[in-house]
Amino acid sequence: MNRREFISAAVTSAVMLARSPRAFAAQTARYDLIIKGGRVIDPSVRLDAVRDVGISAGRIAAVEANIAAQATETIDARGKLVVPGLIDIHTHTARAAEGPELVLQDGVTGWIDAGSQGADHIADTIAVARSARQQGRVLINIGRAGILPEGDTMDLTRADAGAARDAIAKNRDFIVGVKARLSRDVAGQNDYEVLRRAQEVATSFGLPVMIHMGQTISPLPKLIDLLKRGDIVTHMFAPPPNSIIDDNGHVLSEVLAARRRGVWFDVGNGQTGHMRWDTIDAIMKTGFWPDTFSTDWTGNSRTTGVIDLPNCMSKLLGYGMTVPEAVARATWNPSRIFPAFSDRGTLNVGSTADVAVLELRDGTFEFLDNFKNKVTGHQRFFPSATILAGKRIARSA
Ligand SMILES: [Zn+2]
Repeated sequence: MNRREFISAAVTSAVMLARSPRAFAAQTARYDLIIKGGRVIDPSVRLDAVRDVGISAGRIAAVEANIAAQATETIDARGKLVVPGLIDIHTHTARAAEGPELVLQDGVTGWIDAGSQGADHIADTIAVARSARQQGRVLINIGRAGILPEGDTMDLTRADAGAARDAIAKNRDFIVGVKARLSRDVAGQNDYEVLRRAQEVATSFGLPVMIHMGQTISPLPKLIDLLKRGDIVTHMFAPPPNSIIDDNGHVLSEVLAARRRGVWFDVGNGQTGHMRWDTIDAIMKTGFWPDTFSTDWTGNSRTTGVIDLPNCMSKLLGYGMTVPEAVARATWNPSRIFPAFSDRGTLNVGSTADVAVLELRDGTFEFLDNFKNKVTGHQRFFPSATILAGKRIARSA
């Protein structure tokens, strides 16, 4: 078929389709929900335009300039952003039973609990993930007792590969990777060996490792050398010692090499020691930007510099990141890291209708690092409404 014949055939079939009963049904379709008139940003298809989003049977059914059909429910999103449901790949949401519902209010329709528990108590975090309304998955801490005030793997026998392997084998549906926390107050001198064991376990299941970097005893290049394609470095803005950037403002060559071989770099906002504005400024200037935003969320995040994922997404707008670039780092990019989210992070027709409606407010906003330093920004994302599998989530006060 040449081009002309192809166009002719396409027109003919479109005409036939318009006359068919099925097409008639589509024209008069009622949607369960229409989100009207918002600025729809869908990084998966590079869309940034005012659109209506029609939802039927829990899936995105149409994204069009004007959907005239009727709907059971309509959300007026004029003046707001309509983006895929947010995915937060570094949280501790599963440490508390109410965690998933709290972050759902923020627009978070998918989350990873990143190493709250190890083999000994992984059943607790999995129980929370299993009962959550949105999709929650967990990374198992290579330290079998999970996060400990005295340091997860200061005692190297806690980095128990056998115990981790057994736990993963029993819970393949919820454990999607292995977490290795490597700071000097967590792993001490054991950092390299802890990561080596975490990698051995993860590799045997074809899973990624997420490392918690920053303030390690071993030099970062030595640690990063153990990372394979698909692994994740969280706390990428951690200040020295052992940050990703040297004193002359150059990103370490081993870090650049890691990104080239497919290692992801994540923010992991958190509360202590993970980000400082001067380090962020130096890293952003090099163009080595994060692949993903994440909160490192815990029950007290509301009262720290974290607040919520939309707030964390706002922090780099003043460093030259555009609004669609910020959205991509909390939607499409995380969906490509973990297969559990492979049909999320997008508003493409046919995908699960997880949607976050956000407000992008102009004004003067203070953003905190982990050292009580403030920077002032002029735009901030606020959560406005969450739609999970096509259903609007009621907002608590
Ligand atoms: Zn964490």
